[in-house]
Amino acid sequence: MRVAVSACLLGEPVRFDGGSKPVREVMELAEKVEARRVCPERAAGLPVPRPPAERVGARVMLRTGEDVTDAFARGACACAREIVRSGARLAVLKAKSPSCGVGLVYDGTYSGRLVPGRGVLAERLSEEGVCMVTEDTVRACKPSVEHPVAIVLGTGLGHLASLVRPVRRIDYQDIEGFPASARPVAGHRFEATVGTIDGVPVVVYPGRIHLYQGYSAAEVTSLVRHAHHLGCRDIVFACATGAVPGQAHVGLGILTDQINLTGRNPLAEWDGLRDVESPFVDMNEAYAPYLRTIARGVADDLGIAVEEGVYAGVLGPCFETPAEVAALGALGVSYVGMSTVNEVIMAKALGMHVLGLTLAANESGAPAVSHESVLEAAERHADDFERLVRGVLRLL
Ligand code: SF4
Repeated sequence: MRVAVSACLLGEPVRFDGGSKPVREVMELAEKVEARRVCPERAAGLPVPRPPAERVGARVMLRTGEDVTDAFARGACACAREIVRSGARLAVLKAKSPSCGVGLVYDGTYSGRLVPGRGVLAERLSEEGVCMVTEDTVRACKPSVEHPVAIVLGTGLGHLASLVRPVRRIDYQDIEGFPASARPVAGHRFEATVGTIDGVPVVVYPGRIHLYQGYSAAEVTSLVRHAHHLGCRDIVFACATGAVPGQAHVGLGILTDQINLTGRNPLAEWDGLRDVESPFVDMNEAYAPYLRTIARGVADDLGIAVEEGVYAGVLGPCFETPAEVAALGALGVSYVGMSTVNEVIMAKALGMHVLGLTLAANESGAPAVSHESVLEAAERHADDFERLVRGVLRLL
């Protein structure tokens, strides 16, 4: 997987003052991928050292008042061309820089004040569809013993739990908010495992409960709150779905967004609210672009066929009518299932980074869809699913 990285984050002395800003987590990532070091200011041939620069509207000015807009544009163009040519889908760029900044930049007053905006290179790359994150995202998504990766597995995908080197096990019945009456259906086991997969700290929940079994959205999302209490910041949801004809095919998929058609929301239930600061949660980028891009890169590197698309969560338990399948297709839905959407809402409310992976076990609306056929499809794709999850964990 090719990843463009701001050279100063890797310790190169290319900043205006002749220094660098090395970040351990970014350097570790760079060692595991094909990293392309970029520095648009160096590419522009700007002298080092020189006075600092900030964005003033569309222009870039040195503190001395010199207008360096053209030089910055030249360097950004050269680096953007190089990044696109390299095939990198991901760029890790130095936060707040007038060249590399993503989301926030200094406001041109040299007072340390930040405003929403992008550096000149980030502007160019956004036109090319490259996923851009700062060193803060890489740091925040880095797993550790204090911050293990939570993995919640759906129908037929629970075997991944067998990969965990266990440190301890937690009976779901000991998880606050998990219903005492809940019993696993075929293909599920109700015991979380805390441990490591290939040395990466994880907590694996090898089964879940569903709204269609009569549980509330607060109960269905109790595992997410539990993972958050354990310190998890990244959470992977894996679910079985139907592929909406014309939108996706049977096989593995990466979820890009969701439509909640269950008619429920854990943030509208009192029990679910106890753990969140505000129920008015921003649902933009509910599925973290950084994690999605890494998953895509891993799949491509390993030759695993995956598609990407929007997930629609329905209440179930019956499958979709032909009219519903047609409606879902018209809505731009690729995958339809009976889980995940409420859990993602809860994870987002708790500030967690979500990766959604699905196994589309059948075509939505196809006749004779049975629980057994879902398990059979899961079995067929078990190896690829395992390689994909392990590959993502390795890069975090
Ligand atoms: Fe770092 Fe980007 Fe500035 Fe170069 S242009 S020093 S890579 S922030």
